[in-house]
Amino acid sequence: MAAALPRPSRATENALKILALDLHWTWNHEADLLWRSINPDLWDRTRNPWITLTRTSKSELAKALANPDTKALVKTSMEGRKYELERSTWFDQKYPHGSLSEVAYFSMEFMLSEALPIYSGGLGNVAADQLKAASDLGVPVVAVGLLYAQGYFRQEITPEGLQKALYPFNDPAQLPIQPVLTPEGDLFRLSVQTATGEIWLRAWKAVVGRATLYLLDTNDPANPPAIRCITTQLYGGDAELRLRQEMVLGIGGWMLLHTLGHRPDICHLNEGHAAFAALERARCLAEDLNIPFSQAQVIARAGTLFTTHTAVPAGFDLFPPKLIASHLTFYSETRLGLSIQEFLALGRLDPSNRDEFFNMAYLAVRSSCAVNGVSQLHGEVSRSLFAPLFPRWPQAEVPVSFVTNGVHTPTWDSVAADDLWTKAGGKGRWEGTLEGLGDAIRQLDDDVLWQMRCTSRNGLIQALSEELRSRQCTVGEEGLWCLPSPALKPDALTIGFARRFATYKRPDLLLHDEDRLVRLLKDTNRPVQIILAGKAHPKDMEGQAMITRWVNFCQRQDIVGKVVFLADYDMALAQKMVQGVDLWINTPRRPWEASGTSGMKVLVNGGLNLSERDGWWAEAYRPEVGWALGDGLEHGGDPAFDHSDAQELYRLLEEHVLPEFFERNEKGIPCAWVAKIRESMAHLTPQFSANRTVREYTEIFYLPLSQRYRDRHLGVGSGTMDLHDCRKKLLEGWKSLQIGEVVIPNKGSGRAAHAFINPGRLDPAWLEVQFYAEPLEGSVRVVSLRRAENLQEGWIAYETDADLRGEASDYTLRIIPATNALCVPLEAPLILWQR
Ligand SMILES: *Cc1c(COP(=O)(O)O)cnc(C)c1O
Repeated sequence: MAAALPRPSRATENALKILALDLHWTWNHEADLLWRSINPDLWDRTRNPWITLTRTSKSELAKALANPDTKALVKTSMEGRKYELERSTWFDQKYPHGSLSEVAYFSMEFMLSEALPIYSGGLGNVAADQLKAASDLGVPVVAVGLLYAQGYFRQEITPEGLQKALYPFNDPAQLPIQPVLTPEGDLFRLSVQTATGEIWLRAWKAVVGRATLYLLDTNDPANPPAIRCITTQLYGGDAELRLRQEMVLGIGGWMLLHTLGHRPDICHLNEGHAAFAALERARCLAEDLNIPFSQAQVIARAGTLFTTHTAVPAGFDLFPPKLIASHLTFYSETRLGLSIQEFLALGRLDPSNRDEFFNMAYLAVRSSCAVNGVSQLHGEVSRSLFAPLFPRWPQAEVPVSFVTNGVHTPTWDSVAADDLWTKAGGKGRWEGTLEGLGDAIRQLDDDVLWQMRCTSRNGLIQALSEELRSRQCTVGEEGLWCLPSPALKPDALTIGFARRFATYKRPDLLLHDEDRLVRLLKDTNRPVQIILAGKAHPKDMEGQAMITRWVNFCQRQDIVGKVVFLADYDMALAQKMVQGVDLWINTPRRPWEASGTSGMKVLVNGGLNLSERDGWWAEAYRPEVGWALGDGLEHGGDPAFDHSDAQELYRLLEEHVLPEFFERNEKGIPCAWVAKIRESMAHLTPQFSANRTVREYTEIFYLPLSQRYRDRHLGVGSGTMDLHDCRKKLLEGWKSLQIGEVVIPNKGSGRAAHAFINPGRLDPAWLEVQFYAEPLEGSVRVVSLRRAENLQEGWIAYETDADLRGEASDYTLRIIPATNALCVPLEAPLILWQR
């Protein structure tokens, strides 16, 4: 018998524990090597280092660590982690003076890893990718979400092509998270008073490099069953369950941060779900500063940013007033000091309409000093969605800007792509400003790029023929049934289509003319294969019918094996697909895809996009980088337009995509295709990265908002003008404001334009008097007037300094609240027009 191996040292065990619990491994291909060397079978099955570590027996671990290579990997991984945490970051270097204490980022879902399945799709993707990029860049972010016992449903496909929803249990002990502990080392629990008594929230912590994600759940045995079930499923249940979840996320979430001692300057609401956090924040401020809640709201607002993700009114969370009253009266009256009617008014367009539903997005807008959409087009769409909150304001000035989403490239790149980018741009390439990165990629030769593509495509096909086969099978009454086995070829043009099967995404557009698609697939000279995946919400019957249609199509004998529908689309499958495919197709109805992110994931891997001009692609597309569908206009659900889009899709595939992919030079390289790969990688990858997104959020929003927040915070009690008072007086006195004679002399007369204003009960210092003309070539034409002299009976003469550009008749006089202290029009949507 061989001598027993020495037990791994405690230091090594601790090191492995630290590494397994830091989700930094989700964007570090070297970590794959470490965990595979510890326990290859468990690692390949679970892709979860925490399970790999805790389920490996001591003797197996000792055996693995007896291998000097494994030992060396542990050492270099720990050194790598130390370096990661200590290196000077973009944020440290650029903003060294503590201009931002912390950003609290709230989201219903986070898609960090398959090992922590608490997401459904795009929203969680955006949240997690930004958190990872914040860690890379050193932007101080603490995130808050919910720990769902069952997450979002898992999908099985029956022989009839029906989707079956399954809800496996997330055992917290097997997730890469830790319970939050008190300084004494006890379990941290949060107690919340409700009308029916005390409920308990449990708190967990996930380490994401430099960032922390706190997760709350209600599955505490001390709670009644109805409470324990609040955090069971993501996007399951009815409006009541959703409301309760949003209360836990927002109110519980802020309470958690506050209790743990966090005092973030910024609260970033990722979608309206989390808007209650803004109220709880104001409540905590009121308590800490000993000021009324309404004053604390003004301070809190200065440091709150709301990112909206929906492109249709139906996407907003709406709650019946009765439901709000039954669940929030206690909180509102005893904690905020608001009557339930005052509370309801915060989420209504018309505060006096007692039938109007409570809109979480309205609450979020009213709680923020900045609002943004997630692509340029979505910014525009959102301005029209929120226009009713800003009556008589020109749509262009509805205060919603945009930051286009990006993906966290190191999370989505293949090993081959990672190698290639490392050679071109160095190891720390995604941690700075990305300058020069595109040029480095442009220097790469055709065969280097093509080699990377072929290796990555092969990787996908290997994975599909081995590990993914098992997910294609179910056992039913008829015994074992499997979707047709893929017969994929490593050299075929490989097309990917995977996403939520929602009607607006038109996942069946490619099936519009099945015969035409079959002709394409049967061409033996130009082999094409399609890999599909996607879940439809369990209540979405139309979406599920589209899945059935595809599953049936896959089983056609004449194309069998060339089109595969992969069950249970999840992050791990998405990673494999975006790394391997040559072409990614996306066919939403414009403008309903607010941004879309899956197409961005193929960029780093040299995949190309063919998509509707919607969301991010509407601003990214140019002929050098891919193909675009549609005319760039909105057609709603018009079937005639679906038809013409489908025709265009086939035509692009037949006349452009296939010819370019199969036109090869003497070395077998498709030069025109590779030219597109190069340009797409060089130009689009940096631009649609979460690195760029997080830098924009930091510089456009976090830093200026934090300054404003600090100013207001410091202003409390120091005798400076009380904004709360000023705002109140503006709202109450606005009707007393009058515009008198307005004179705009003709151009060249050399005389200043002037106007007579009577501020009524308002202090003229609070007013901004402007000449406004319709925007010309996109640029807003607004000219401010200055106070010239006081006249009789309260009238004041105002005049311009400069000549007005354009015709006098273009201009109208208007008055808005002065913009230096208040966020206008967010905090005071007032405007008075001359006519
Ligand atoms: C990226 C991703 C999504 C979002 O993709 P869209 O293009 O926004 O539809 C959804 N689900 C998974 C698993 C993903 O990886």
